[in-house]
Amino acid sequence: MRLYNSLTKRVEEFIPIEEGRVSMYTCGPTVYHFAHIGNLRSYICEDVLEKLLRFSGLDVKRVMNITDVGHLSSDADTGEDKMLKGAKREHKTVMEIARYYTDAFFSDCAKLNIKTPDVVEPATNCIPEFIHMIEGLLEKGYAYKAGENIYFDTSRLKEYYVFGNQNEDELMVGVRDDVTEDTNKRNKNDFVLWFTKSKFEDQALKWESPWGVGYPGWHIECSCISMKHLGEKLDLHCGGIDNMFPHHTNEIAQSESFIGHKWCNYWFHVHHLNDETGKMSKSKGEFLTVSLLEKKGYAPLVYRLFVLQSHYRKPLTFSFETLDQTAATYKKLKSRIASVADEGNVDEAALKEWHDKFVQEVGDDCNTAMGLTLLYDVLKSELNGATKRRIIEDYDRVLSLDLLKEDEEEAVDDELRAYVEARIEERAEAKKAKDFARADAIRDELASKGIMIKDTREGVVWSRA
Ligand code: AMP
Ligand code: ZN
Repeated sequence: MRLYNSLTKRVEEFIPIEEGRVSMYTCGPTVYHFAHIGNLRSYICEDVLEKLLRFSGLDVKRVMNITDVGHLSSDADTGEDKMLKGAKREHKTVMEIARYYTDAFFSDCAKLNIKTPDVVEPATNCIPEFIHMIEGLLEKGYAYKAGENIYFDTSRLKEYYVFGNQNEDELMVGVRDDVTEDTNKRNKNDFVLWFTKSKFEDQALKWESPWGVGYPGWHIECSCISMKHLGEKLDLHCGGIDNMFPHHTNEIAQSESFIGHKWCNYWFHVHHLNDETGKMSKSKGEFLTVSLLEKKGYAPLVYRLFVLQSHYRKPLTFSFETLDQTAATYKKLKSRIASVADEGNVDEAALKEWHDKFVQEVGDDCNTAMGLTLLYDVLKSELNGATKRRIIEDYDRVLSLDLLKEDEEEAVDDELRAYVEARIEERAEAKKAKDFARADAIRDELASKGIMIKDTREGVVWSRA
């Protein structure tokens, strides 16, 4: 497997620390609203990456956090607390909001065939771990107390701007114009580890700590949750590109200061999905969700295919026109696969050869578009039907497009057909026995379900009303 590593800015051979095993961490959602399809682009690409690692023979342990506390839009104790904003909007408690949108997130993921990570940990579960790390950072002199909050001291680091050579202007990314600087901070890029005095006096979730009752800052959760389940050395860390700075930069700063050595070897960042007017954002209020796509008649897996058609390291623009094209492609692809008869003996050597080809090509920096090309190559090949179907089944472990699954509509039709035909037979028996009342009752029963039957010379025919 080869992977672009944001740390080194190069595509590199992916070599896990422990042979054959991968520890993988993913920044999870902030659960104050539905995930938009931009967020889900990131989760689809990360799902493909996890499945690809498994497909290439590695054992993966994947952990994801749920941000159900805090999350300010800046490190300066300004901007807005997203969870609090969600709770106010819906007149619910922060925990009710968190629970509702966590469930909604996993329901969207299920529709998109995104596998749930092995461990999913809400931030509110890990307050003792956060406190432990902050205490360690204070002891080692990497943190200080000011204005009753605890801050990370970025001036103590030899290297802070790990992700690229950002200049001062670039460092302003993520900081909004209306944000005033927090005067407690010694250095501009210092960030809060623990708040006891925040402008959010009505913050609902607060915990006892050695520094008074308060709540954690924005970044500490990912370092702690990752270390809790994956130890002090991590192979792979994923997130959307907007997480690179300051979130991931700060995760690295606090983690490596705490453990005293390098923390994570590979960083995987998914570029943004934009709509035609620009970046998709939850805070704009109106955004595209999986449910909205469904309401408009698109199967969620059409959106998964839409994402797989492009490379994760390129920005992607969403439009309904392109989605329509993808819907047509998906339908054609599925019916083409459905027409492949399950005939002949499976050619095991060919199966292995095509499997290896997929690892080679798609494993070259998660080239999902190449995976789709290979799929068409299989269909075009001279292989027998049974072998083709087995290879497609194999590829679908990564692509997860339900390629061999019958369309639900057709499946329902099969069920309906069986039911109607059984009733028609029963009616014929009733007629034969001159039980006309029974025969009419069966006709009425079918009519009540929208099924019309007609006696013709060729026998009984039926149709939907
Ligand atoms: P959030 O719920 O805001 O914490 O974001 C969840 C994930 O979605 C993070 O990994 C973000 O980096 C990612 N993300 C946010 N906006 C987009 C977008 N427009 N396109 C792709 N990924 C995004
Ligand atoms: Zn994170």
